[in-house]
Amino acid sequence: MIEVKNVTKIYNKKNAFTALDNINLTIPSNTSVAILGKSGSGKSTLMHAISGLDKPQKGQVLVDGEDILRLKPRATDRFRASKMAFIFQSFFVEGGESCYSNVSLSLETAGVPVRKRKKLIEQALQSVDLGDKIKSRAKDLSGGQKQRLAIARAIVGEPEILFADEPTGNLDSVTSKVIEDLLFDYQKKNRATLIIVTHDEELASRCNTVINIKDGKIVSQSTEESKK
Ligand code: ADP
Repeated sequence: MIEVKNVTKIYNKKNAFTALDNINLTIPSNTSVAILGKSGSGKSTLMHAISGLDKPQKGQVLVDGEDILRLKPRATDRFRASKMAFIFQSFFVEGGESCYSNVSLSLETAGVPVRKRKKLIEQALQSVDLGDKIKSRAKDLSGGQKQRLAIARAIVGEPEILFADEPTGNLDSVTSKVIEDLLFDYQKKNRATLIIVTHDEELASRCNTVINIKDGKIVSQSTEESKK
């Protein structure tokens, strides 16, 4: 469970700008959540606060009871690596490396022994339908394939919390649907928490909970139990 309590993030000390204004939020396990809002509303800043990528000046972020804002940087990194993974709009794959190496990288970071990696990598690539691209270089893939590779790399360590920041922002609608289905399938199969940052209302409507954010404030939150 993630609990965000009274979180305020101010950018720039001189020209102070309040990007998150006293945010309170609870996200249970095994659910999908959309953080929905226009560009500049504070979505990415909120995602960075929830994941410990950035430290707000005020408030608490409890992940399974641990206040991640109080951890030292290296402990935050370790905590994040043990529980969380990320997918971004711009794919972030290592173009010159093979698909195999791209997925292997995240297992290396997580300290998984070499002998255990091969099977996990193959399974992850198969789960995103890239089983036949194991040796292909990432830069030779299409945009949709690159995003599937990014998903394989994110899910190979079976994270409890998967963040996706505008995951379909650079993709056509048919490819977007494939990517969305992979994310929601992972969430359900692994009883994980999926947090999607988006300005796309249609994508948001597929989530169990939609949190609307505007000017750094939560303006509404709706949960549809029937969608679970
Ligand atoms: P969104 O993800 O909804 O597009 P962001 O969280 O990226 O919004 O940004 C929220 C607001 O904070 C915007 O007005 C943006 O200009 C500002 N902002 C974001 N990052 C910084 C930064 N590093 N320094 C100063 N202002 C920033």
